[in-house]
Amino acid sequence: MSITSIDQEFVAGTYGRFPVELVSGKGSVLTGSDGKQYIDLGSGIGVTAFGFQDEKWLASVNAQLGKVQHTSNLYYTEPCALLAKALCEKTGMKKVFFANSGAEANECAIKVARKYSAEKKGDNCYTIITLCNSFHGRTLTTLAATGQEHFHQLFQPLTPGFVHVPANDIAALEEMVKSVNTAGIMLECVQGEGGVLPLTKQFVQAAARIAAEQDIPLIIDEVQTGNGRTGTMYAYMQFGIMPDIVSTAKGLGGGLPIGACLMGQKVQNVLGAGDHGSTYGGNPVCCAGALSVVNRLDDAFLAEVRAKSAYVFSQLEGAEGVESVVGMGLMIGIKTVKPAKEVVAACMKKGVLCLTAKDKVRLLPALNIPMSELQKAVEVIKEACK
Ligand code: PLP
Repeated sequence: MSITSIDQEFVAGTYGRFPVELVSGKGSVLTGSDGKQYIDLGSGIGVTAFGFQDEKWLASVNAQLGKVQHTSNLYYTEPCALLAKALCEKTGMKKVFFANSGAEANECAIKVARKYSAEKKGDNCYTIITLCNSFHGRTLTTLAATGQEHFHQLFQPLTPGFVHVPANDIAALEEMVKSVNTAGIMLECVQGEGGVLPLTKQFVQAAARIAAEQDIPLIIDEVQTGNGRTGTMYAYMQFGIMPDIVSTAKGLGGGLPIGACLMGQKVQNVLGAGDHGSTYGGNPVCCAGALSVVNRLDDAFLAEVRAKSAYVFSQLEGAEGVESVVGMGLMIGIKTVKPAKEVVAACMKKGVLCLTAKDKVRLLPALNIPMSELQKAVEVIKEACK
């Protein structure tokens, strides 16, 4: 039996998989079970920030595997402590809670915002405002946070206490803050699953201002946008704001499961012993991998990410069959004349793996993809769009 047929028989059918069995990867090139090679512009949906078998990342992970692979959170470990320190130093945040995924990082963010607001304003202050067309995860609470009805159907009742306002509508946000007891405002600076749509600076700054004026924790979901993906350490840094809470995951671990909830000055002491926890959270191997990722995201490296982004935009904007190119850094959405799925299928045939987001072709290559591979892949995309 092939990998595909075993998977189709035994793995829950929650994913529409492409007809490709991947067996290995090196750098930004993946190899299928039939020996076919692909330039990877998806990086496991924004996860393998430094590609496959990256030497520095592997060395960090292997060194920790050779020491202790898991301890529980009853004890201190160096990678967990050093990663929290590095994240705080790079952001100005004060404390970090480690989880295993983006949804769990958001669960923590929501708990922090609710506890802060309950203590300050009373038990009935629990509503979190998020945006229409947002995506915050698949747990019942983060689904409730997700402002897309079609994800909610047949899973009711979801966690109560979430309302949604249209993205970039300052008046709607102001109105909503007046009409509900708001415990938090939560948003993605670039709506990834929603179609790679950056919010306006004006709106993000207004949200930050309203949150500060009303003493409402502002949560920025950096699960997809974070860790260098948009050309800065975190996307919010390009919007001139300072969030109270930042959730992140995906690229943080470079391919190992880790999520993090970063807490700023205002909420740094909200969580106390017993308020939250995770068996695997802060796992030393995942933290060692993440530390090697975070330590490499310096100014020179991020400038390279922005230069690669500028290259992709310059090549694809105005190309035949391309209606528009949106996004930030190496988080790029291409609105094509042909259906996005058709373009992605054509690219795959030619050995380039791309993603979709809503009606767009989405690119999330490894941040260190070699320029020569990026150029080859962009040529393939241009052909496929025609
Ligand atoms: N938040 C955002 C912005 C995301 O893009 C995602 C995943 O795509 C999540 C949360 C959920 O992350 P995870 O799948 O790791 O739970």
